[in-house]
Amino acid sequence: LLQRKAHGTRLEVSMEALVHNFNFYRSMLNPDTKVMVMVKALAYGSSRHEVGSLLEYHLVDYLGVAYVDEGVDLREHGVKVPIMVLNPASDAFDQVYDYHLEPEIYSLSLLRQMIEWWEQSDRKASELMRIQLNFDTGMHRLGFMEEELNTVLETLKQHSWIKVTGVFTHLAGADESIHNEYSATQIHTFQRMAKQLEEGLGYTVIKHCLNSAGISRFPEAQMDMVRLGIGLYGVDPTNRYQGILHPISTLKTIISQVKELPQGKTVGYSRKGELKQNSRIATISIGYADGFDRRFSNGVGKVMVRGKMVPVVGNVCMDMTMIDITGTDAREGDEVIIFGESLTIESLASSIGTIPYEILTNINERVKRVFY
Ligand code: PLP
Repeated sequence: LLQRKAHGTRLEVSMEALVHNFNFYRSMLNPDTKVMVMVKALAYGSSRHEVGSLLEYHLVDYLGVAYVDEGVDLREHGVKVPIMVLNPASDAFDQVYDYHLEPEIYSLSLLRQMIEWWEQSDRKASELMRIQLNFDTGMHRLGFMEEELNTVLETLKQHSWIKVTGVFTHLAGADESIHNEYSATQIHTFQRMAKQLEEGLGYTVIKHCLNSAGISRFPEAQMDMVRLGIGLYGVDPTNRYQGILHPISTLKTIISQVKELPQGKTVGYSRKGELKQNSRIATISIGYADGFDRRFSNGVGKVMVRGKMVPVVGNVCMDMTMIDITGTDAREGDEVIIFGESLTIESLASSIGTIPYEILTNINERVKRVFY
């Protein structure tokens, strides 16, 4: 699990903070509410199977991924807890079945493709295919509409090998309180649809509708399970748990070279970094290919060296960025903090008009992940 040795640009991930955040959310839930943790997109940029294994050790009930490959990767690293796949490719049902993944079935056409796949393969009558259904109650992304439910039920009843383990919906506006009424309507619609489903199937299923923001705003709707994402990774979309949730990661790089340059010189591509005074300029080993967004160019981005905030000079390059370290005693080889410690992901994200989710998930795979 531990990958301690690393150099250059790295994302240091605190297992203690992950476990703390996990336990914090669990402490807010009813004791019998299950927790699915979303580990899609490299566990929000941190590292999929390390986080998956850690959570399995801490008795997570489910993991959620976007694609079949992500679920297969978790299985190949020994993760055994149930895994839901949000967007299974219709040609990957063999893998879904063989690796004991639970595909989200969200449309009649995907349901029919799964049935066709099953009928073409020589499965035994005693085998079961476990699936999760997604009901669209207002997100208008994937999911069955209410008017399709009768057809879904009729189809399911003809195929007793399909075992619906869970049904869920996704709230479109849980992150903003101005949408509370809309969320409440979604929850109500979902309850109605889930009841009809269970009555039609003749058995109960795991019902779930809350993401991190939903857990904080609508605890009364936790039902049988919640789907925890960004909150586990230390970001509270409802701004209620500042100081309670722990940031889980620090993105660091190093200074590769330092130059003394006179006033009037320019730095970097398109000569965008114009020096207004004699300056000390450092080149750091991180660029937009690592996930350091090009919108941080020309002073928009600020990083921390030796405890001081210093601005980006000129355009961010693919693998490198120049920063203005004038007035500091920073030197070649020094560590530079991109986010973490007092530099929050939230402030970094808002400086370029995006959300912490994007900052985290954009950290490229080539950046070393170091768990401690
Ligand atoms: N459930 C579904 C279906 C999702 O797509 C996501 C994330 O995008 C989540 C839950 C977790 O959301 P959050 O990270 O806001 O907690």
